[in-house]
Amino acid sequence: MQGTGVFYNEVMRNDRAPSDMDIGKGFDGIVRAGLLETEGVKLFEAKPVAEDLVLRVHSRRWLEQVRAEGMWMVSACSAGAVVMAFDKVLSGELRNALALVGIGGHHAGRDYAYGGCYINHEAIAVAWARQEGRGRRFAIVDTDTHHGDGTRELFSGDEDVLHICYCGYGGGEGKTKVCLPHGSGDDDFVRRFRTEVPALIEDFKPELILWFCGLDTHRDSYGTRRLTADCYPRLCEILKETAESVCRGRLVVRVGCNAPSYVAAEVLPKILRVLAGREWK
Ligand SMILES: [Zn+2]
Ligand SMILES: [Zn+2]
Repeated sequence: MQGTGVFYNEVMRNDRAPSDMDIGKGFDGIVRAGLLETEGVKLFEAKPVAEDLVLRVHSRRWLEQVRAEGMWMVSACSAGAVVMAFDKVLSGELRNALALVGIGGHHAGRDYAYGGCYINHEAIAVAWARQEGRGRRFAIVDTDTHHGDGTRELFSGDEDVLHICYCGYGGGEGKTKVCLPHGSGDDDFVRRFRTEVPALIEDFKPELILWFCGLDTHRDSYGTRRLTADCYPRLCEILKETAESVCRGRLVVRVGCNAPSYVAAEVLPKILRVLAGREWK
């Protein structure tokens, strides 16, 4: 039976995180909501990705730097969560998936990273799918408050990756790399998103949609957006409908905790309910 997967590993838990930003507490929110005991929802332990795979995206020098900073295991398990979600969704074992990550990825380019990022999970998952002959054409929708510069650089000139980035900068590159402004609040953003995103994805026809959901857009986080916890399931509904109409429901939602932990604990169960086809309000 196709269902919804949750990918997580306890190494992502970070009780020492600055400003109490801990995806582990987001995971606890899912557990407390009883969602892992519901039919059609399955938990998987995220395994670290292999070094060889990471080297398809990043330089050896950068990988050694990540190790030297003590960030290898959390980075490799975070990328592993996204790769495993791709695997099970592309194979049809799962309809869709929620991949939890303990560290960021979209500010990671081939030979650098900053802003709490180390290795680029999205690019690694796409590299994995292509290497295994499991897919070639992907849509990445990035709703973090910041520009996904590492991802944009790694997929520059790659016409088989649609990168929609809600950083507010505007512009982009060709037809497949787009930057758009966030709305001024939940209703405005949902309205824009509904107008802009499904049309771009339907035109592009990806094999899978990856949603890079940054929680720094929440009004209690450091980003400049003013979203509430209810905005995220509404965005998820739009992407799920789009995935159902374009790519047999194949949707992977990647969420890290770049907001206070209580935000993740409130938002993640709502997103998971949408993915699993349940009422989220
Ligand atoms: Zn950000
Ligand atoms: Zn952007």
